[in-house]
Amino acid sequence: MNCDLHCHSGYAGGVGNISLVDIEKTMPLKGIDIVGTGDVLQKQWLNTLKSSFAEEGSGLFATAPEANVRFVLQTEIIFTSPVGEGRKMVHHVLLFPSFESVDLCRELMNKWDVKLNIGRPFIKCTGKEDLTRRLYNIHEIDPLIESIPAHVMTPDGVYGSKNPVTSMKQFYGEGIDIINSVETGLSADPTILGQIPELDDFTLISNSDAHSAQLHRMGREFTTLNVRKNDFPSIIHAIRDNHVCCTAEFNPTEGRYFLTGHRKGKKGHGDRYCMYSPSFTPGGGKCPICKKQLTIGVLERSQILKEAQGGDDRDWGYRPKNSPDFVHMVPLVEIIAYTLGIRSSTSKRVIGTYHNMIEYLGNECAMWFMNEAEIEKRLIGNVEESLLSNILMIKKGDFNFSPMGYDGTYGRLSIGERRDIFGVREEHLIGGQATLDRW
Ligand SMILES: [Zn+2]
Ligand SMILES: [Zn+2]
Repeated sequence: MNCDLHCHSGYAGGVGNISLVDIEKTMPLKGIDIVGTGDVLQKQWLNTLKSSFAEEGSGLFATAPEANVRFVLQTEIIFTSPVGEGRKMVHHVLLFPSFESVDLCRELMNKWDVKLNIGRPFIKCTGKEDLTRRLYNIHEIDPLIESIPAHVMTPDGVYGSKNPVTSMKQFYGEGIDIINSVETGLSADPTILGQIPELDDFTLISNSDAHSAQLHRMGREFTTLNVRKNDFPSIIHAIRDNHVCCTAEFNPTEGRYFLTGHRKGKKGHGDRYCMYSPSFTPGGGKCPICKKQLTIGVLERSQILKEAQGGDDRDWGYRPKNSPDFVHMVPLVEIIAYTLGIRSSTSKRVIGTYHNMIEYLGNECAMWFMNEAEIEKRLIGNVEESLLSNILMIKKGDFNFSPMGYDGTYGRLSIGERRDIFGVREEHLIGGQATLDRW
C-alpha cells in the first residue's frame, strides 16, 4: 500500500488552494492509495473534511465509497522549546484515528492557548520536560495517535541546523519513548539517515509534504507499507513494527537543503551565491559574501551527527538493519519538461504528455519499480524517443542536479552524467560575473 501521510491544505501559510477533488484526481495517476488530509486541527478545513467524508469505521476516509483514494486525518504541528541560547522550532506530524480524537486534541490545545486558526499550530514549551508532558497528553487521548518528527534533517526538523542538537532526546526529552519513526524529508534518504547511529532504532518513512495538488508535488515521496488490513490501525502498526517494504525518495541533491550555502537574493547577496560539500565549508561556517552564518545543509548535518553519536566507522553507503529498500524518483512532469525544453512543469503540453504516458504505465509510481526493459516495452513507439532515453538514463543513475539543492532552493535537473556529492565548492562571489570552482 502506497502511503503519503504528510500533506497540507490551503490553510498552511503561503500555499495554494488544495481541494479534496483535486487530490482524488491526482493520486490515482501518481499511484498513491492513502493520503494525509493535512491541517486537520484547523477549524475551517476540519469542517470541510467532516462534511465531505462519508462515515467509515476503518479510520480511513473517502468522499464516496467508490473513490479509489483513502484519507488519513493528519496535521503538522510545530513544537518550540528552548535549546542553547535560542528557541528551537521542530516540525512534527500527527496522525489521528477518528474525528473524535481530533476534537479532543483541539480541546486540549485550546486549554494550552494554542492558536488553531492556522494550518500548522505552534505548541510553545518551556523545556524538554514540558514538551514530554504535552506529547504524552496528546497520546493519552487515543493510543492509536501517532507522532512523527517531520523532515528531520531540514532547518525546521529536529536535526536541523537552527539551534542544533546532537540527539533527538536533547529536544524531545523522555518523550522520545513514544516516537517510533521519523520522516526522511526531501533532502535526505535512507543512505543519509543511515549515517546517524540513534536512528537504527526508528522506522524511516517518506512523505511528500505537498502544499499543492500539482503533479510534481503530491506523492513526490511516499512509503510502501506492508499492512494486514486496509485500515488505520494496520497502518499505525506497520509504522511501529517497521513493516516498510520501501520508501520512494527524491534524489536528496534535488531537495532544498542538501548542501551548505547561501542562495542568491539573500540579504547582502544580490545575484551572488555560494555552496559547499562538507569538507569545503569555510572555517566557522561563515559566508564569504555576507559574513553571516551559512545555512548548513543536510549532507553536512549528517556528518556532524555521525561524529557526535560515535558513528565514525560508518562509511558512506552504510545501511543499518532497520533501513528500508528505497528508490530515487524524479517527478515525471519534471523529466517531461526537461526533455521538451519547457520551463514550467505545469504547462499544458507537459501535462498532456504526462496523461498520455500514464495510459501506458498504469501510474507514475509503478514506473519507478519497473526494470528498464519493462519501461522500454511499454513506452517504445508511444512517446518521443528522447523522453524514453532520458527516463532510462535516470533509472540507471546517470543524472544529477546542478546546482544541487541548497539554502531553500531546489536542485536543477541535468540528465546525462553522475556527479560527486562530496566534491562541490561553488562560489559566485562577483555580481553578474561567475567565479566558478568545481572539482
Ligand atoms: Zn514541515
Ligand atoms: Zn551570505
